[in-house]
Parts: sequence; structure tokens; C-alpha cells
Amino acid sequence: MITQQRSTCLDEEEIERTLAASCQKDPRRVFDILAKARELKGLDPAEVAVLMGVGDPELVGEVFRTARQVKEQIYGSRLVLFAPLYISNLCSNDCVYCAFRDRNRALTRRALTQKRSRAT
Ligand code: SF4
Repeated sequence: MITQQRSTCLDEEEIERTLAASCQKDPRRVFDILAKARELKGLDPAEVAVLMGVGDPELVGEVFRTARQVKEQIYGSRLVLFAPLYISNLCSNDCVYCAFRDRNRALTRRALTQKRSRAT
């Protein structure tokens, strides 16, 4: 089945709102988020935005120390590679190096259906 779906997977306004709301200079908030990160239960986008906005070198060091700690707890010294599993060639992004990019009109778009997935 050939489909021509166009979906926007990124809500740019929501991203802008989240980044604007994260522009605070409260180190306690950063330490609270880092403590949550060490619990290995994940962070929400607003928390990630706060960490992305850290500029103080000491706090940046804390972010890196925590990231290393979390990485070591989850992966240890293993090198983990992720291979994408493509079930379609639909994409709303425009990475210039990729044939799947949205502006590549020469590509016939396909998406795997339940019926086709059972055929193999
Ligand atoms: S690399 Fe290709 S498939 Fe991945 S997001 Fe960019 S355009 Fe889409």
C-alpha cells in the first residue's frame, strides 16, 4: 500500500514554550532534576530543557557527572549501537543527506501495513 501521509511530529511552538519556560537560573531546580535523573526513571521535556540551558561551569560539570553516572549504570562499559528499524519511508524531516527527506519528491512513499507485515 502506497500512502502519502504528512504528519508533523514536532510541535515547534510547544518546543519554544518549553525552552522559554526553562530559562531560569535556579541551581536547586537543576540539582533536583539531576537527582531525579539518577533514579533512572527518565526526565520530561521541561526537565531536559532546564539541563540544556545550564551555563554555569560548575553546574555543567554536575550535568556531565550525572550523565556519566546514569550511562554507567544503564550500559556499563558496553558500546551500544541502535539500528533503525524502518517500517516506512515516510518522514516529515529534511535531513539533506537522507533519501527519505520530506522534500525528496522523487521517492515513492511506502508504509508497511499489518497485512504486508504478515506476508513475509
Ligand atoms: S535521517 Fe532521513 S529518515 Fe531520519 S529524520 Fe532525517 S530525513 Fe527523516
